[in-house]
Amino acid sequence: MTRSLYDLDAGQLAALVAEAGEPPYRARQLTHWLDTRRQPDPRAMTNLPRGLRARLSERFAGAGLTLDRHQVGDDGWTHKLLFRLPGGDAVEAVLMFYKRGGLRPPRSPRDPTVAGEEDWEGGPGGRATVCISTQAGCAMGCTFCATGQFGFTRHLSVGEVVEQVARVSTMLPALRPGPGAPDHLTNVVFMGMGEPFANQEATWGAAHRLHQRFGLSARAITISTVGLVPGIRRAAAEPLRVNLAVSIHAADDATRDRLVPVNRTWPIAELLDAVGGYVAATRRRVSFEYALMAGVNDDLEQARRLGRLLAPLRVPGSGGHAAHVNLIPYNPTPGTGYAPPSKAAVRRFRDAVAASGVPVSVRANRGVGIDAACGQLRTAAGRPGRTVLPMAEGQGTGTGARAADPAERGARR
Ligand code: SAH
Ligand code: SF4
Repeated sequence: MTRSLYDLDAGQLAALVAEAGEPPYRARQLTHWLDTRRQPDPRAMTNLPRGLRARLSERFAGAGLTLDRHQVGDDGWTHKLLFRLPGGDAVEAVLMFYKRGGLRPPRSPRDPTVAGEEDWEGGPGGRATVCISTQAGCAMGCTFCATGQFGFTRHLSVGEVVEQVARVSTMLPALRPGPGAPDHLTNVVFMGMGEPFANQEATWGAAHRLHQRFGLSARAITISTVGLVPGIRRAAAEPLRVNLAVSIHAADDATRDRLVPVNRTWPIAELLDAVGGYVAATRRRVSFEYALMAGVNDDLEQARRLGRLLAPLRVPGSGGHAAHVNLIPYNPTPGTGYAPPSKAAVRRFRDAVAASGVPVSVRANRGVGIDAACGQLRTAAGRPGRTVLPMAEGQGTGTGARAADPAERGARR
């Protein structure tokens, strides 16, 4: 069964058109709808003959994603979307707008938190980043993560991953919070539900398709992994040089074992060995994601250890630091027992990492009021009595849940 029209490559689209007895230029029109207009619904492809449209929609009835819920947070700068998949499960995608030049930490020679050119928040043109899912659920079982607690349902296909980007791209102009926000999608991060390197075929298939067919540069694509070493080794050998983010979350094996069970298979030393190989092969910097949880991994000793672990990672040739630490204050997830750190603890931790010379930045929480942490919307949607509003596509702004406290509105997750 084809799950999405985006599962079909150029040859398969051409065959589909030929089967319907249509001339080859119809395949180019179909491709234009899918890739340039990013429209996966055959019924909306108005320059295709009525018969072909009907044939395609009949043939692919039940395929594709259906928008089920839409929540708006951060005054319209964050949109969380729940898409239902063929077969009934659901995945989340989050669209985050960043103002031109905004949301960057202040730059000063004495500010050790300056993120450098790979800081993905703001920038001169602003950004519109979509965070997409690669699996319904996740089998990795991280103890702090809503998706991990839900368990694994199934892998997404290449087309289902790509279609999330297409659907969000077409909705974007209507969701734009103001003229300070970009009018098109600029970045894609594989940081939604699921572990991308546990579904390599769909992850790399989608990354290539986004690059070749949607024209996204490799540097506009980031894949985040919990630390699956074979996946990191493959990334080192991939010709498409996307950004790599590694969710490290702890600097010693005992703590990481508790948070990230897969650490028992690939402990920190092996993980860093694979990342070292990736850096050597690609000369690219790597982001290390670190979700700070009060009393669990936010103490000074962890920060210093993290600095000691990551400081030796250097870009060959330039000798500059290859690691960049992204601190994410924990986004509270009911039932996990973990809590966000205090602001003072975040600052202390950041300063201790910075003292090791490793670049570090703090990602302020995004969408706290709309369950924007990984897996939270799907969890909430499954719970009766929640005020999560179903919403028609294109009616973007205004009515969803909002971050209750303006101080909580900031960047990302
Ligand atoms: N499976 C991949 C990508 C998806 S998770 C991975 O783990 O890297 C994306 C990021 O969100 C990971 O760094 C994950 O650890 C983090 N995350 C999940 N739940 C969170 C929460 N409640 N608060 C803060 N970060 C969270
Ligand atoms: Fe899976 Fe990532 Fe959540 Fe861990 S943090 S359970 S790997 S989605």
